[in-house]
Amino acid sequence: MTRRRLPLGLRARATVAFGLIGLFAAVVLAVTTYFVARSYLLDQREQSAERQGFANARLARSALRSTGVDVAGLVTTIRGESGSEIVVRSGEAWYASSVAIGRDDIPVELRNVIREGHAGRELIRTPKGGLQLVVGTPIAAVDAAYFEVFSLNEFERTLSLLRNTLLVGAIVTSAAAALVGRYAAGRVVGPLAPIATAAARIAEGDLETRLPPHHDRDLAPLTEGFNTMAASLQERIEREARFASDVSHELRSPLAALRAATEVMDRRRSHLPNNVSPALDVLTSRVQAFEELVLDLLEISRFDAHAVTPDFEELNLKTFVRQVLAANGASEVAVVIADHAPDTFTADRRRLAQAFGNIIRNGAKYAGGVTGVTVRGDEEEVEFLIDDAGPGIDPSERVSIFQRFARGDAGRRAGTASGTGLGLALATAQVELHGGRLEVDDAPTGGARFIVRLPRTPPT
Ligand code: ADP
Repeated sequence: MTRRRLPLGLRARATVAFGLIGLFAAVVLAVTTYFVARSYLLDQREQSAERQGFANARLARSALRSTGVDVAGLVTTIRGESGSEIVVRSGEAWYASSVAIGRDDIPVELRNVIREGHAGRELIRTPKGGLQLVVGTPIAAVDAAYFEVFSLNEFERTLSLLRNTLLVGAIVTSAAAALVGRYAAGRVVGPLAPIATAAARIAEGDLETRLPPHHDRDLAPLTEGFNTMAASLQERIEREARFASDVSHELRSPLAALRAATEVMDRRRSHLPNNVSPALDVLTSRVQAFEELVLDLLEISRFDAHAVTPDFEELNLKTFVRQVLAANGASEVAVVIADHAPDTFTADRRRLAQAFGNIIRNGAKYAGGVTGVTVRGDEEEVEFLIDDAGPGIDPSERVSIFQRFARGDAGRRAGTASGTGLGLALATAQVELHGGRLEVDDAPTGGARFIVRLPRTPPT
């Protein structure tokens, strides 16, 4: 199955969304501010330039009215006082305050407007890229025109500073908005973490898990909904477990009666016709297998219903192993107790013996019998290694054979009469009741090695 690539998480999406919203708002604000400020400053500058230009034009007019005036000297004088460049047309002659400026620097349209007798102004961009404002005033009485050219470099510097400030402001604002988004998403996602943890615990089988009530008005329905769901799930699972347990229980009496009847028939076998005997054998073995299945189901359903109360006691390791082997017809099997293994451990004798019994009987069924049991351990843990010299268990089956009704290759080959696939599932539940684990590996001698790992004292 190909895994779908997960899109961005909520936090990342909120960070990006807030960042973009912040950037958009900051850009709109910055652009508006920039253009409003630019138009206001330019307006101010134009008005002051115009005032100055008209005042100087009046000065020039009075000078030009007097006869024999030195126009070149006049423009230089005015320039020295105002700091801007001056261009004066007197008749057809042009005079400028410096060599850097002249008639050609005055835009033709402005010149024409002035010739028509109107005052005017125009913004121009010089070939070098500087911005200039040209203010023109006609001096009709002496057929002259006065132009004053103001440099707007200072204005442009101010605008450039404003632009940079707004740009930095926009970047800082959107970064701050992204951080706010991340924080807000964190606050929203934060309360979901306990829900995920609780869901994981339920999935692991802890059906009692519930969330504490939430006081937040928006989150309370979520926790309530989760708790309701968990409760109904628990009730359903327990009901199903009870059902299996009830059915198994109900089957016990008729089965016991059936077994008693087959025993009676077996005792009277000599009175039965010869051709009934094989059928009686089949009936007897099937009734026995059915009874074992029902007993296993009953035990498993008790685990499912959490109705198992372990009866822990201190056991002698070596005695326990020997007794279990003897009870399952394997008393001759060699038992090796490692040097540092403890003498005793704590367990539910009956249930652990049942788990070992299933493993040992499987050894007899599928592997020609158990060949050895090794016990290792320390103060914390004990480990039982149960080896056989059979075909071993294929790595692909090493997880599945512990599941309910799962049969492996050996089981299938041995046929349905050899088992139902519940033995190792039950053994696993019994070992886990002790806080332990049941696994399978290869035995050094080639067969299967079942490993039962238990804490020396089960957790309470
Ligand atoms: P069952 O014996 O009823 O099939 P179990 O749960 O006891 O059920 O075992 C599951 C499967 O594990 C068996 O069907 C068999 O294939 C495999 N198995 C168990 N023990 C051994 C063993 N010692 N050697 C080989 N295969 C085994």
